Formats: sequence, C-alpha cells, structure tokens
Amino acid sequence: MKVALLTLFPDLVRQTLTMGVVGRAVERGQLQLHCFNPRDYTTDNYRTVDDRPFGGGPGMVMLIEPLMRALGAARSVLPNARVVSMSPQGRRFDQALAIEFSTRAEIIFVCGRYEGIDQRFVDTQIDEEVSLGDFVTSGGELPALTMIDAATRLMPGVLHTEQSALEDSFMDGVLDCPHYTRPPQHPLGDVPPILLSGNHAEIAKWRRQQSLGATWLRRPDLLAKLTLNKRDQTLLDAFIAAHRDKNGVQ
Ligand code: SAH
Repeated sequence: MKVALLTLFPDLVRQTLTMGVVGRAVERGQLQLHCFNPRDYTTDNYRTVDDRPFGGGPGMVMLIEPLMRALGAARSVLPNARVVSMSPQGRRFDQALAIEFSTRAEIIFVCGRYEGIDQRFVDTQIDEEVSLGDFVTSGGELPALTMIDAATRLMPGVLHTEQSALEDSFMDGVLDCPHYTRPPQHPLGDVPPILLSGNHAEIAKWRRQQSLGATWLRRPDLLAKLTLNKRDQTLLDAFIAAHRDKNGVQ
C-alpha cells in the first residue's frame, strides 16, 4: 500500500511510522509513505497556510491554494489514489473500513488543523471523509496514523502470524478472548486450567465461549447483528448461565 499524507507535521507522521509492526512494514516496503507539507507549497514570505474565517469567529481555516499544490504533488506520486479527508463529520472508521483500506493500492490522507479546511477544497477535491470517532482532536494526523496502522497490520505478510489478525476483536463480529502468559500461578491469580491442558479442541471451544461471552457482556450491539449457529448459541447460553450463577442473577 502506498499512502501520502498532506500534513503540516510530517515529522510526527514519519517518526510514528518507524515503530513496531507498521515500522517493519515500512522497512520492508510493504507500506510506502509520502508526506506533503502544505507549508512547502506556499508563495509568501511567511509561508502562510491559514487565514481568519469569513463571517468572524475564533480559530483559523486552512487555505485552499497550499493544499491544492500539495495535493497536486501527492497525485503525481499516487495517480490512482482516492483522497480521504480526516474529519469528525465523516463516516466512522471501523474494522470493516480498515479491511477495505488494507486492500487499496494507494490512498491520500488530508490532515486538517485549526478549525479545519476551507469547505470549497473539501467539496471539490475530497472523495470521502472519515472520522475516528465522536470527539475532536487538534489535527488529522493522529486519526490518519491510527487508520494507517489498523489497515497495515491487515495486509498479507505484515503480521508474523496472519491468524493473529483474524482472531482479533471485530474480525468476525465478536470481541477477542482473554489472553494469559507465564507464570501460570501468580499472586494476581491462576491461568484458567483449560489453557494448560494441551487439549486444542477444548481450548478453541473455551476461547470461542469467552469471545461470545465478552461480546454479550460488553457489546450487546455487536451480538444483535449476528446470527449464531447452534454450537455458538450453546456456548453462549452456558456462559450466560454460569455468569448469572456467579452473580446471583435469576
Ligand atoms: N471545527 C472542526 C474540528 C476541527 S479539528 C469541527 O468541529 O468539526 C482540526 C482537524 O482535526 C480537522 O480538520 C480534522 O482533520 C481533524 N480531526 C479532528 N477530530 C477528528 C476525528 N474525530 N476524526 C478525524 N479527524 C479529526
């Protein structure tokens, strides 16, 4: 995947993408990163990228022209990219969109700052607006980095074991199961014995049950979207019965 970011903070973006799983994907060339700073495409001595809003009010608005030129430069490197704007008003990012992004060859992310971007640029140059969630960050960089991270780890060959992404939360509509490592006994508690049993079929069943149970407890909205097969329903019913027993619910 090739991504370009239009950003006033290219160092923030580049530095973040040197670390961990995504950093390795950049090293291996699985993720190619290009940053275009609108400030490098200004024509005045002050390298101005923003101005006061028409109609008054607080804050500044990003100017059209530096963005247009930065976008032109990005398009010359990624000619087939869709242009995605970071915006709290956009479609909410989720795992389904991460999967979709991970299959795209090229994406240009436009990161706003200040009060946002002149609406004429948004109306004419942006293919889709995407939001990280119902809150406002001070710029589009952290939302874009989050989306790039989520998409990159889904690309074939990026994670050591592809299976690990498939078992993550949301991949099949349910939350992940709990994980434990050594030591098996600890003052904070013991590892569930089934995980030490070596019985792979029983372990898989336990994990599935924990996933379904966690989703039932924490995200009933996700569960409501699923049609459980008989096996899953039986596992969940047993989880619910045990949970009610433990908590004294009738
Ligand atoms: N005035 C705007 C917010 C501007 S915040 C409003 O209230 O809608 C500055 C920039 O941060 C935005 O242009 C956008 O690029 C980015 N941003 C803020 N919150 C975001 C979110 N939830 N998702 C994606 N980008 C966001």
